[in-house]
Amino acid sequence: MMIFDGHLDMAMNALDHERGQTWEVTHIRERERAGVHDGRGLSTVSIPELRASNTPVVLTTVIARCKPYIDACRKNVNDGDWPAQSMTHAVGMGQLAYYKLLAGRGDLKIITTASGLREHIDEWTADPVSTPLGIILTMEGADPITTPAELEQWHAQGLRTLMLAHFGQSRYAHGTPSSMDSSGPTNPYDVDGPLSDMGRQLLPILHRLGMPLDLTHTADQTFAEAAGLFEGRIYSSHTGCRAVCDIPRNHSDAQIREVVGRGGVVGLPMFNLFLKPGYERDGGKGQVPLTIAADHADHICQLAGNAQHVALGTDSDGGFGAEHMPAEVDTHRDLHAFADTLRGRGYSDSDIQGVMFGNWMRFFTETLPA
Ligand SMILES: [Zn+2]
Repeated sequence: MMIFDGHLDMAMNALDHERGQTWEVTHIRERERAGVHDGRGLSTVSIPELRASNTPVVLTTVIARCKPYIDACRKNVNDGDWPAQSMTHAVGMGQLAYYKLLAGRGDLKIITTASGLREHIDEWTADPVSTPLGIILTMEGADPITTPAELEQWHAQGLRTLMLAHFGQSRYAHGTPSSMDSSGPTNPYDVDGPLSDMGRQLLPILHRLGMPLDLTHTADQTFAEAAGLFEGRIYSSHTGCRAVCDIPRNHSDAQIREVVGRGGVVGLPMFNLFLKPGYERDGGKGQVPLTIAADHADHICQLAGNAQHVALGTDSDGGFGAEHMPAEVDTHRDLHAFADTLRGRGYSDSDIQGVMFGNWMRFFTETLPA
């Protein structure tokens, strides 16, 4: 069975964390055997690993957050936050350069059209050994785009979807809180609120370019305003359900209904903190069997009335490692265990194929330029 992963941060891992995406995961782990300082944990994914997991195509990010208020003396400066948009722009362009270099070397292929996506899957099916990995470029928080009009340049360079914000406030919108304890957000800048003027100007340009909007990471007020204003297709690349795990980072039932009702798909992250209520980081991954991820899938299927609107957006190596993924998952190839979990829940073969691959395939075949 093929996997379509709706969310990875490949360039971030290469450039912020020195994880070469053409390396085997075993090599990355060996290189980091003495530990790393930023809590990113055990690596689980890279291009060879995606081949081993039979994943022909992924959405992967350009990501850099602009936060003018950040402290120059903070402990970990290399944290993805920058005090000016000139910096996030250049960081994002650097990540794009990384993808283009690997594409030029034949390690991956940047997919920009629906026909290109279909041809790529045919090619991979015929030759899963030497066909390059397909990537669809997305942006996790729009801060690398310095003005709304500049989106055209990014689109021309291959960007096909975006989120308005990541953790905390972006220049465009309010993102989900960057830090939480049981009483709520601990960062005073983590407030919900409306779109900025730039956010309101960006949405019609996004629509005119035919790009879908990823509503993952948008805080509730931003979600409501953006979903109301945006006339194009919406989806959510890597989000769980508050009905199963009630944290602001997950979607409410109303938000899931909005995405599903407009033909969108919700990708499930394989991050225990988003999956299991009260997950304890030092309690061991055994706390979270894949059946808990299946609870999220079931809930989305119940709201949708079918199994066509849930998929995978694993976020593997997205700031957490194997230690905080479900018990059965050590590296990306182990995600096939999720198909078995769904089978155990009574999902049909075609529904399982949809969750693992086909639902994203349908959505991006419909939304990428022909
Ligand atoms: Zn990410």
